[in-house]
Amino acid sequence: MADDSSAATKLSDDQAIAPPIVRVALDTPADDCFDYLAMPEVAPGDLVVVPFGRRSLVGVAVERAATSDVPNGRLRPVVQRLDWMPPLSPDWIALAAFAAGYYHRRLGEVMLPALPPALREADSWPGLAQRARTDEYRLLAAHVDNLLAAVPARARSVRALAQALAECAAVGKPLALADARALCAAAPARLAEWQAAGWVEADRTARPLLRTAPMQAPSAAPALHEEQRAAVQAIAEAQGFAPFLLHGVTGSGKTEVYLHAMQAVLERDPHSQVLMLVPEINLTPQLQTRIAARFPHLPLAVLHSGLADQERSLQWLAAHRGEARIVLGTRMAVMASLPALALIVVDEEHDTSYKQQEGLRYSARDLAVWRAKQRGIAVVLGSATPSMETWWRAGQGTYRKLVLRERAQADAALPTVRLVDLNHERQRQRPLFEGLSVPLLEAIDTRLARGEQSLLFLNRRGYAPVIACDSCGWLSGCPRCSAYLVLHRPERRLRCHHCGLEAPVPHHCPDCGNVDIAPLGRGTQRIEEALAARFPQARIARIDADSTRRKGSAQAMFDEVHAGEVDILVGTQMVAKGHDFQRVTLVGIVHPDAAMFSHDFRAAEHLFASLMQVAGRAGRAGLPGEVLIQTRYPDTPALQALTRHDYDGFAASQLRERRQAGLPPFCFQVLVTAEHGELERALQFLQAARRHADSCQLAAEVQLHDPVPMSMVRIANRERAQMLVEATSRPALQRFMAEWVQTFAEVGTEVKGVRWQLEIDPLRI
Ligand code: ADP
Ligand code: ZN
Ligand code: ZN
Repeated sequence: MADDSSAATKLSDDQAIAPPIVRVALDTPADDCFDYLAMPEVAPGDLVVVPFGRRSLVGVAVERAATSDVPNGRLRPVVQRLDWMPPLSPDWIALAAFAAGYYHRRLGEVMLPALPPALREADSWPGLAQRARTDEYRLLAAHVDNLLAAVPARARSVRALAQALAECAAVGKPLALADARALCAAAPARLAEWQAAGWVEADRTARPLLRTAPMQAPSAAPALHEEQRAAVQAIAEAQGFAPFLLHGVTGSGKTEVYLHAMQAVLERDPHSQVLMLVPEINLTPQLQTRIAARFPHLPLAVLHSGLADQERSLQWLAAHRGEARIVLGTRMAVMASLPALALIVVDEEHDTSYKQQEGLRYSARDLAVWRAKQRGIAVVLGSATPSMETWWRAGQGTYRKLVLRERAQADAALPTVRLVDLNHERQRQRPLFEGLSVPLLEAIDTRLARGEQSLLFLNRRGYAPVIACDSCGWLSGCPRCSAYLVLHRPERRLRCHHCGLEAPVPHHCPDCGNVDIAPLGRGTQRIEEALAARFPQARIARIDADSTRRKGSAQAMFDEVHAGEVDILVGTQMVAKGHDFQRVTLVGIVHPDAAMFSHDFRAAEHLFASLMQVAGRAGRAGLPGEVLIQTRYPDTPALQALTRHDYDGFAASQLRERRQAGLPPFCFQVLVTAEHGELERALQFLQAARRHADSCQLAAEVQLHDPVPMSMVRIANRERAQMLVEATSRPALQRFMAEWVQTFAEVGTEVKGVRWQLEIDPLRI
């Protein structure tokens, strides 16, 4: 281990009597922890490398122990320890342990994925070390002769290294490891030897990882209006654990409240840290700029999956070392190590992106609240359309509600929301042009004439969701999924959005040979094409996952919109969230109807939230905004409520319905899913699991529904089934689950080859 200096340092008394065994959490479902013989200096919270089977794995040392169930001769030793990183705190370990218990996973399955990828790879440790700390060597004046005498002249490169050290010593400077390596490839080993001999001293200090601009003047903060001031005061003065719901329409100045509350907390204690979560990577640049401008002197770390591995690790380390005072990130940031955490902000708390949909299916919002409770601090959940769970808790007084009623800027009123009844359009014999109604087209025209921007929202990418044969009824189904292949016209491909399968666009129907096969329905590409045909003079941009695949291209496109270089913007939900488009005065919602026929009881909630969010893009800076929603179902309660901007009324009716039906937040749910090549086997697995449930304690307090095929039953040739488990008491459900999950291994031997998953508090059922 070339980099280990502490091996040579003396042991403190504590370490000398440290128990000989260390329990290490590893990313495997086999067990929570595994026992190893510890090196003396391994402490709880350290990252270590241990042998596991024939591999070596990085794990987290969780605790030292005097004894182990593994017979003494069979214990294997820890092989390496990341010696330059401060150990993870007991708080962080407790957070991981809570998440492991709550989501019924192994400790290491929570801990390791919570670390940035480069830290999980011992191979990248030296590279990180180089960035994270200085690594310099001083030859002690008294030993110059000893060293030179010990190195034979024929060992040329070692000799060069020794001489360089001597020269540096003569002028009182250290030699950097990188320079030492350049002279002698074996420098690390030689330097370690000379250190052990007491001739050379290593000089390692943490390098700052984040840049600040202390000379820059902070951007001016607007004078808060009364409701904002009250909100900031409540948050800043809160004592102990204090969960808040900040409810305010888009543009009501929630971000301004976060910034002021952050400032109060950061100024109070010169070491404190603030964590701010946002739902989408795309929202980080805009907010990062705003935060950096307001707090130019404070180190700001950013955490999301769009960063290169090394960069992400360095940002993470800056948070872990306490260097970062502000950490801005997506859901993954909720697991960041933050030793001086003093305030958490969760922006757009209702957003489903806070729920991880694979691996550990955690809710970052819920974990944020748990962390705040653990540390006894305030947590602010902000939204224009809070989730029903959060709204219910705020109504009960569990969360304290802070309300911003008006838009913040004096000249920015809420947009008018108008429904375009497509039935009515047909009666008036005003046909749609490629799915766009006359009122919508006219409204765009008006904006073009006025030099204002229009935003068209359609949550469906591609050209058309399916292609069809008119004569035999063939549809472009995915051979591997219960889904259609989507036509991507510019690329001339059919693509499955579920399994990734790609195929060329057929020239004729594969079933009957008919050459008249045609795209059915519309995606963003088709709308973009229609707009180009209808408004040839307009500058049109499309923002969706396809148009922004290249790194940085999304940001470039958003910049164009902000710079006024775009007249009409077409996009999926990527454009709906958070962006502050100052010149957009028209928002057109092309096709919300698909969402209305979902069997999911949360569909209305999600529809309302997403439309309210898009609507909020209109008319933010003095220009009056208008929102047009095209629909065949204008009586839908969610749409009616939208026209009145009536979240409160909508939420009240939702909660009434949920209470009557015994749905969340009036019950707690777990979804068990099983998948196999054959649906029958997946169902059998769930049935077997259900039988085992009967023998568990508390089985009487939970309700197990029948196993059923999932609504999208097949993805990538795997058939999927699900079983819903419900209870009115969360602790009862948790205790039941803990016991029941233990039986799944046995279920797996009864019905073989089935992959299963648990989702606690599922968002989609
Ligand atoms: P939200 O986060 O609720 O969408 P923001 O905090 O981004 O709202 O505020 C919306 C706009 O109003 C921003 O341009 C912001 O600078 C401005 N703003 C916020 N608070 C005030 C205020 N008290 N006075 C004037 N402008 C404000
Ligand atoms: Zn056909
Ligand atoms: Zn597919």
